[in-house]
Amino acid sequence: MSNYDLVVIGGGSGGVRAARIAAGHGAKVAICEEFRYGGTCVIRGCVPKKMMVYASHFHEDFEDSRHYGWNTSVDSFDWSRLIENKDKEIDRLNGIYENLLSNAGVEILYGTASLVDANTVQLTNENEQAEQQLKADKILIATGGTPYYPNVPGIEHAISSNEVFHLESQPNSAIVVGGGYIAVEFAGIFNGIGTDTTLLYRGEQILRGFDNDIRNHLSSEIVKKGIDLRLETNIEKIELDSDGRKIVTLTDGTSKTVDCVLYATGRKPNVEALNLNNAGVTLGAKGEIPVDKYSRTNVENIFAVGDVTDRIALTPVATMEGHAFADTFFGNNERFADHSNVPSAVFSQPPVGSVGLSEEHAREQFANVDTYTSEFKILKHTLTDNTERTMMKLIVDADSDKVIGAHMVGPDAAEIMQGIAIAIKAGATKADFNSTVGIHPSTAEEFCTMRTKDS
Ligand code: NDP
Repeated sequence: MSNYDLVVIGGGSGGVRAARIAAGHGAKVAICEEFRYGGTCVIRGCVPKKMMVYASHFHEDFEDSRHYGWNTSVDSFDWSRLIENKDKEIDRLNGIYENLLSNAGVEILYGTASLVDANTVQLTNENEQAEQQLKADKILIATGGTPYYPNVPGIEHAISSNEVFHLESQPNSAIVVGGGYIAVEFAGIFNGIGTDTTLLYRGEQILRGFDNDIRNHLSSEIVKKGIDLRLETNIEKIELDSDGRKIVTLTDGTSKTVDCVLYATGRKPNVEALNLNNAGVTLGAKGEIPVDKYSRTNVENIFAVGDVTDRIALTPVATMEGHAFADTFFGNNERFADHSNVPSAVFSQPPVGSVGLSEEHAREQFANVDTYTSEFKILKHTLTDNTERTMMKLIVDADSDKVIGAHMVGPDAAEIMQGIAIAIKAGATKADFNSTVGIHPSTAEEFCTMRTKDS
C-alpha cells in the first residue's frame, strides 16, 4: 500500500488541475482515471463538439463566399474524415494531459476507484485484473457527470453525447431531444452538415434560464436555418423498423422515422462506483456531492470539485475549483472559487454568449432595471443572401448604473462575451460602456453604442 498526501479520483479538467497544482506545491499526489485523461470536456465534450461546430458551419460560409466573388460549390461532406481527424487531435490532447501530470510529478493510475474508508481508495483495473489500495491524507473526488436518459419505452435505441462523437456514418435524419446546451448545439451541427434535423423540447422555449429575448431570438434563427423545432413536444416511444431505423412516436400524435435519436436531457453526477457510504460522504437530492465554499464534503478530509458537485457544470469552473482547492490545502494560500458572473456560451448556430443576470432574474433582484437591446444584420451579411440577424442586450441596475447582465446571439458571441465578462466582473457601469470607444467596423462595438433604453 502506498501513502499519499492527496489521491484525486477523476482525470478531467478539475481533477487534473488540482493534482498538478498540489504536486507543484510539493504534495505527494496520485490520480486515478477509469477512461481517458482529459475528461468529458476534452474527450467527448467541449473540444470535439467545437470541432464539429466548425465543420458544420462551412456549408453556410461557402454559400456566403459566393457573394464575395468566390466561385465555390459544395459537393459532399465526409463524416469519416472529420471523425478521424478529430480523433487524432483528441489523442494528442489526451497525451498532453498525461504529460502535464507526469511533468508535475503526479503518479498516473488507471482503473475504477472506490472508497474503502475516509483515507483509503481501492483501485480496480479490470483490463489488467489488478487491484491496489492507496492511503491518502486527503481525497478529491472529481468524477464529473454522465448522461441522463429519461424512462421512455425504446430508450435503448437512442444515443447520448457519449456516442455521437463516434457514429460510424452521418445520419441522414436525426431527432435531438432537449432544450439545453447539448441539444441546441448538436441540432445545429447535424443541420449544418445536411442531416434532416428535428429538435424536440418539452417546454415553451429552448434554453431555459437564459434571457427570454435571447431564447426567442435564437429559436427563430435556428428555425430559419432549417431545424424542425417542435416546442412542448416529447417522445412517447421509440421502435425499430426492419432496417434498424427508429420509428419515433411523439406526444403531439405524429411519428417520424429517423436514423438517429440523440438524447441531451441533462447529466447526472457520476458517483455510482465510488462507494461513498464507506467513508460517510452524504449525497444531495440530485445525487450530487454537496460541498462548502472550500469544496469540502461533510467528511473533513474528503473534497469534491466540478460537475459531480452540481454547482456550475462548466469546464473552467471545475478548473477554478480544483486550483483553489490545491492552493488552499497544499499551497498555504487560502482561497475559494468565485461563482459569480460566470460567463458561458452555447455553440449553437448562431452562437449565444451570456454573462450576469437575464432581464427576468434582474427584475426579481433589483428594484429598477433598464435594458438596452439591439437587433441587426452584421456587416458581412449586407453582401450575402444570409438572413441571419444578431441580437445584443445589456441589463443595467438603474440605481447604481452598473451593468449586471450582457447577452448576445450572433457570430463570435463567445469571443466577444469574454471581454464583456471582464468589464462586468470589474463592476463597469453603463457610463463606462458608453465612454469606451468602439472598434469600427465590428459587431462588438454595438455594446458601446447602445444609447436608447428599451421602452
Ligand atoms: P441541460 O441541463 O442544459 O439541458 C437539459 C435539457 O433536457 C433541458 O432542456 C431539459 O428541459 C431537458 N429535459 C430534462 N429532462 C427531460 C425529459 N425527461 N424529457 C425531455 N426533456 C428533458 O443539459 P445538457 O445535457 O444540455 O448539458 C449538461 C450540462 O453540460 C449543461 O448544463 C452545461 O452546464 C454543460 N455544457 C456546457 C456547454 C457549453 O458551455 N457550451 C456545452 C454542453 C454542455 P427543462 O428545461 O424543461 O428542464
